[in-house]
Amino acid sequence: MSDPIALVDCNNFYASCERLFDPRLRGRPVVVLSNNHGCVIARSNEAKALGIEMTAPWHLIKQKFAKEGVVVRSSNYTMYGDMSRRVMRILSTFTPNLEIYSIDEAFLGLRGLKDVERHAYTIRDTILQWTGLPVSIGIAPTKSLAKVANRLAKKGNGVQVLVTPEAQIAALKQLQLTELWGVAERMAKRLAAIGIATPLDLRDADPHILRQHTSVVMERMSRELQGHPPASASLR
Ligand SMILES: [Mg+2]
Repeated sequence: MSDPIALVDCNNFYASCERLFDPRLRGRPVVVLSNNHGCVIARSNEAKALGIEMTAPWHLIKQKFAKEGVVVRSSNYTMYGDMSRRVMRILSTFTPNLEIYSIDEAFLGLRGLKDVERHAYTIRDTILQWTGLPVSIGIAPTKSLAKVANRLAKKGNGVQVLVTPEAQIAALKQLQLTELWGVAERMAKRLAAIGIATPLDLRDADPHILRQHTSVVMERMSRELQGHPPASASLR
């Protein structure tokens, strides 16, 4: 089997950063707005629970949510960048194979580890202890499956390991096509047109039909969902 890959993702990153420097925000709904248009670009769990949507223009929904005690912050990219560097520096001590994917996400190659789940908890606890930021960690043999695992980790206790095909299949059954990494609404429609309605359908699809009707990207995704990393994978 291929070496496990971990995807570490900071939870509600901008909102969590704001909370670090203002403890009064703990336990309260927090939203972060974009500087140019004042649209919601991050939400704490409490803000999500109120039903505040991503990209909503705050001035349009302000009335509705002001009475709920929502705290509003404008984005502070200098601070987020600084916190991101701290997180990545800590992650780099856990693997020689770190691939930073975005400001709040990174893939880690976990070659040769006996107990990846315990390792994941150690990473999660270390980041929390040293930075105060909560992270979720998904572990699987490919990046696409690590993304799937990460989604489930966020719904659970922060760590999800999908190393066996049985666990992978069970996980895929819980998601919609558009919840997969890089499958937008439009692609989901194209897939539906050839009878692929779920992530499991995509995993088990005929590669020739996939390539013919969508793209080589979806063919690769299908293989990744089966647990096969691309031949050119940088993390192995
Ligand atoms: Mg995140």
